[in-house]
Amino acid sequence: MPLGALPIARSTLPQSAGAALWRGIRGQCPRCGCAHLFARFLKPVDRCRLCSQNWTLHGADDFPPYVSILLTGHIMAPVIIALGLHTALPAWAMMTIVAVMAVTLLIALLQPAKGGIIAVQWWLGLNGFAPAPGKAEAGAETPQA
Ligand SMILES: [Zn+2]
Repeated sequence: MPLGALPIARSTLPQSAGAALWRGIRGQCPRCGCAHLFARFLKPVDRCRLCSQNWTLHGADDFPPYVSILLTGHIMAPVIIALGLHTALPAWAMMTIVAVMAVTLLIALLQPAKGGIIAVQWWLGLNGFAPAPGKAEAGAETPQA
């Protein structure tokens, strides 16, 4: 049982890194999938209110903003090119539209990026999750030859 977390049915645990990642992206507890992962916009709950998993053990640090910036750039590049090729907007209007869209997208992607990173850290047993990785609890580890 991972660090004081309550025992839950194995079928409730995610069965792959992708399933854990998807729970984190949606802002759900990656372990049980039934409670909110975030208490505030970018502040995870200390413990899941249902399964009692300790989420203070994560070490996402600056990685969520890096992911958010990378995704925003790849999404905005075709938008900027399309605006430049297919509209006759003045430069100030185009810059305003692009800046508003980019900032909105960047902020909108921050929480899903952080949730996904926390979920992957838990699944792989990185940082404070090392003693009890999610994949070991779910029985999804491949046997060593
Ligand atoms: Zn939970």
